[in-house]
Amino acid sequence: MQEISPTRPKAFLIDMDGTLYFKGEPCPGAIDVVNYLRRENYQLRFLTNTTAKTPKMLHEQMQALGFDIYEDEIFNATYACLQYLRSRPGASCHFMVDDAVKAFFKEIPVDDEAPDFVVVGDYGEGFDFRALNHAFRLLMNGAELIALQKNLYWFSTEGMFLDCGAFVTLLEAAAGKTATVMGKPSETFFKIALESLQCSSSEAVVVGDDITSDIVGAENMKMRSILVKTGKFKPNQLENPVAKPTWVLNSIAELPNMF
Ligand SMILES: [Mg+2]
Repeated sequence: MQEISPTRPKAFLIDMDGTLYFKGEPCPGAIDVVNYLRRENYQLRFLTNTTAKTPKMLHEQMQALGFDIYEDEIFNATYACLQYLRSRPGASCHFMVDDAVKAFFKEIPVDDEAPDFVVVGDYGEGFDFRALNHAFRLLMNGAELIALQKNLYWFSTEGMFLDCGAFVTLLEAAAGKTATVMGKPSETFFKIALESLQCSSSEAVVVGDDITSDIVGAENMKMRSILVKTGKFKPNQLENPVAKPTWVLNSIAELPNMF
């Protein structure tokens, strides 16, 4: 474990799925913790690699679950990607994302035949052979690959589902390219989140249930992190972990005991 820093953080970057809610229900105590952190004047960002939804849709979902949060506190890979593409004016894209998310990128030029980038996000049943093969050909013709995120699977009330990372990995292998990843654990994601808070990495703490995205991301940015044992967490992930969390808690409900 890293040494516990006595520095009071200015901000918490809190993962949503598996940390604040799981399988469609709030995690016990999570709503109260968010209210507590706000009363204590911490700045908050709520992070997710879910790219099937825009920040507006995610905000409505969180409010329906009972969380008192603001839309501009929600930070997902879709938003990080838009910021990334804005920094490359004129670049064209072929999008493999659902319609609501495609509308979110409406300012970005679309080119489905010879784009600069193939952008892959949650596309659900859109990931059929024809769509994947078309993307493969665009990559072989010179397009670069952008992945909104690389999670391999996710849980819903109906069971486990393949996530967009499984299809990104397929395209990377076939085309011999490495995707630029916008979601956690990429540095792009956490840098843009910190910029939006006007915080340095030493001033923020990441909270999440996923070592490979939340804790790896924090470690890459030299940020402190809290791993919670809810959601995706499995005890064997603490044997030879790919990254070391600064602290481990049973759930986010224990966070007010520390800060
Ligand atoms: Mg999570």
